[in-house]
This record gives sequence, structure tokens and C-alpha cells, in this order.
Amino acid sequence: MSSSLPQQVDVAIIGGGIIGISTAWALSRAGQRVAVFEKGVLAGEQSSRNWGWIRSIGRDPAELPLAHRANSLWREIQQQVNVGYRQIGLAYLGENATDQAGLQTWLDSAREHPTGAHLLTGEAVRQILAEPSTRPWTSALHSAEDGVAEPHLATAGIAHLARAAGCQIFEQCAVRGLDTASGRTAGVITEFGRVAADRVVLAGGAWSRLLCGNTGIFLPQLKVHGSALRTTSFPCGLDLAVNGKEFTCRPRADGGYTVSKLAASVADVTPDSIRLLRHFFPAWMAQRQNLNIRFGRRFFEELFTPTRFPLDRPTPFEKNRTLDPGPNTHSVFAALRQLQRAFPVFAGAQVVQAWGGMMDVTPDALPVISAVDSLPGFFIGTGFSGHGFGIGPAAGELLAQLVQGIAPTVGHHAFRLSRFRV
Ligand SMILES: Cc1cc2nc3c(=O)[nH]c(=O)nc-3n(C[C@H](O)[C@H](O)[C@H](O)COP(=O)(O)OP(=O)(O)OC[C@H]3O[C@@H](n4cnc5c(N)ncnc54)[C@H](O)[C@@H]3O)c2cc1C
Repeated sequence: MSSSLPQQVDVAIIGGGIIGISTAWALSRAGQRVAVFEKGVLAGEQSSRNWGWIRSIGRDPAELPLAHRANSLWREIQQQVNVGYRQIGLAYLGENATDQAGLQTWLDSAREHPTGAHLLTGEAVRQILAEPSTRPWTSALHSAEDGVAEPHLATAGIAHLARAAGCQIFEQCAVRGLDTASGRTAGVITEFGRVAADRVVLAGGAWSRLLCGNTGIFLPQLKVHGSALRTTSFPCGLDLAVNGKEFTCRPRADGGYTVSKLAASVADVTPDSIRLLRHFFPAWMAQRQNLNIRFGRRFFEELFTPTRFPLDRPTPFEKNRTLDPGPNTHSVFAALRQLQRAFPVFAGAQVVQAWGGMMDVTPDALPVISAVDSLPGFFIGTGFSGHGFGIGPAAGELLAQLVQGIAPTVGHHAFRLSRFRV
């Protein structure tokens, strides 16, 4: 491996998830010499484990320009390589006046942005569902512009486009830390040696805080465990992605469904959650209906993971190549039962697989897509807080613009790292 590493590139990217790879694609297309370093395999962590939703509805308005741009990029990607992208629409369902008021509140907050979202009521709701339901759905926040892609295809597909544009990608190659000179970024120290680069992008998902901390940069980020299951293929007319509160489901390209629910998330208490309590407490209170807080094994695993380490010997990044936390089967099977009760057609669905993934979250649930003021040449794209897959291609494009010092085509003020103070 060490002999095949380049001595120097224009931009080194840490992390081969959808964010690192989309950034690499955008930079390579712009003629930059780019290398991506992935400690495990491409999309081994969150980017292959998500539900596959490409969603504008329900997002923080600050992210809506990115979501809008991402739709165009997904279309462009699908024209070149099959990532399973389909603009099939997405709906949040309501069954009483309180639900409808909540859906309307989001619509009002998003009014200044192009979303394609509408509030449907009565017969229009039954028409988009196209399957008999036992539940009295009276309203739906629906966007026909939203869609899905297949997570097991998406990052690999974009990596194919990046390689075709000249990008080099190294798997099983951890970056131990940054090389700096005269107070600015000079490259990366990988487990196989140094690669010079005067610009480095960290797209390390749930590992970003660890690398930042060892570099003396404060990044408030925690991990939240999410889960999903997938079913066999069976005849079903529900051909859009749906959130029915106690369940979510979306049709897969293989004819089955990916099923879960928002409240399947578990936040383990860890030493970091105690260190960052002041930053995350308001978010935990706001999300308490969807979040289960648990104390267990992860506390001790993280307690014994060093937060400061030298770069001349194996680091935690090499010791754990792929975070593979297993599913919260209790929650996802409960979600499937609720779905079967709501839509009896799902009684014929058999479960093929259940899985878990570790989402990286920030205190305000917005990502960091930003230059690092204290270290010129260092950029961060992380903290996508459970919804970075859908906006991934647009987030990568935005990062690439920041790296090249060209005017961003979408607003990025809400995503700067400097919004957080120690
Ligand atoms: C169960 C679940 C459901 C989800 N559903 C959705 C959804 O429907 N829609 C949506 O938009 N989002 C969803 N998400 C969130 C989405 O998957 C993530 O926001 C997105 O994939 C983040 O991409 P990333 O590239 O930042 O991180 P990751 O995919 O985690 O990639 C980071 C990569 O960096 C590598 N890395 C870290 N440190 C180093 C290092 N030092 N050296 C080399 N490599 C390193 C890691 O090995 C990893 O492969 C879901 C997530 C989960 C877990």
C-alpha cells in the first residue's frame, strides 16, 4: 500500500462515506488532484446502513436549498450510474387535528424555500397511499419531488464517477491525523505514511470528533444508534416513502420495503455525553419522544478509547475499521407490526435482514460544512445528524466550493463550525 500512495495531492479527503466521496467527485470534476482515505470499506458505516430517504419535508429550513440542489444531482448521477434513485414522493401522515397542525407548522416554516411540499387532506391522502389502511389518515405532508436511492449502491456509484474523473481512493487506509506546518495544513499521516496536501477535508462521520479532538479542534458531536429492517419482495401498491409516526417504510428497488420508525433511535450514555451535556441537553429535551437514552457497554468502550494519541503507532481508527453496532430488533419489529396493522397488505412481508448504524449528531441537528478558522487549509463535512444521505451529493458540492475558495451556490452560514463554542 505505501508504495501506491501518492506523495502529494491537491486535496486529501478523510472518510469514504457519501460525504467524502461526493466531495471527491465534485473536486475531481473541477480538475483537482484528489485522494480519499477510508479506514475500512467505502460506505461501510452510515452511508450503506440508512433508510435511503431523499427528503426535503421535515428538514430544518436551513437545509432546504441543499435538499433542492441534491435532487438535481441525484438525477444527474442516476443518468450515469445506477444508484437506485427514484423520485417516488414522500409523505408524513396525520390522523387528527393536532397532527395536521404540526404538518402545517413545518410547511409555514419552509415557505421561503422551493420544496414541492403540499398539505393534502381527505380523499387526496387516500389517493397517494393507493393501499387500503385501517387507520383514519386525514392529512399528509407530501412532496412529489422527494424520493429514494439504494444506500448499498449510492456511494459506490458516485465513487465510480469520481474515479472516472481522476480521483484516487484508498480503502483499508486509516488517516491517523493531520500534518501541519507553520500553523496551516500540510497533509495527512496515514497508517502507511505521509501524503502532502495543502487542503484536507474531514468527512469522518461518527469518528470526526475523535480526529478533531486529537488535533486540538472542538467539535461537539455524539453518536446515536439507529436501526432498520428489510422485507422480501411482495405485491404492494404503496409506492412512496411514508412516515406514519409508529412506523416508516419505503419501497426498495428489489421489490421489498425498508421499515423502521423515528423512535427506534437510542443514545448511549458515554463519557462524551457527560462532557457535552451542556451542549446537547436542549436537543435531548426537544427530541425526548423519539430518543431512548441507555446506559451500558458503550460507556466503558468509549471510556477506554484514548482521546489523545500519537501518530507514529496504530490509532483507534485502525483498531475499529467498521462501526457495526447491530440492530435494535425490539424497535424495528415493533415498527413492522404497526405497519402491518395500519396496512394489512404488509401481513405478507417476510423479514430478510435487520441492521443497525451509528449516526453522528450535533447539538442543533445541523451538519458542519465549514472551513476551520484556526487551521487554514482544513475543512470539515460531518455531523449530518441522521439525515445526510439525501443531501449528500449537494453537501459534497458545497464542501468542494469552500475548498476551492469559490462562491458557494447555496447558503452555508448555518453550517459553520464557529457556531459552537467550547
Ligand atoms: C439507521 C440509519 C438510517 C438513516 N436514514 C437516513 C435517511 O433515510 N436519509 C438520510 O438522508 N440520512 C439517513 N441517515 C443518515 C445518513 O446515513 C448519514 O447522515 C450519512 O450517511 C453520513 O455520511 P458520512 O459520509 O458523513 O458518514 P459515514 O457514512 O459514516 O462515513 C464516514 C467514513 O469515514 C471513515 N473514517 C472515519 N475516520 C477515518 C479515518 N481517521 N481515516 C479513514 N477513514 C475514516 C469511516 O470508516 C466511514 O466509512 C441514516 C443513518 C442511519 C444509521
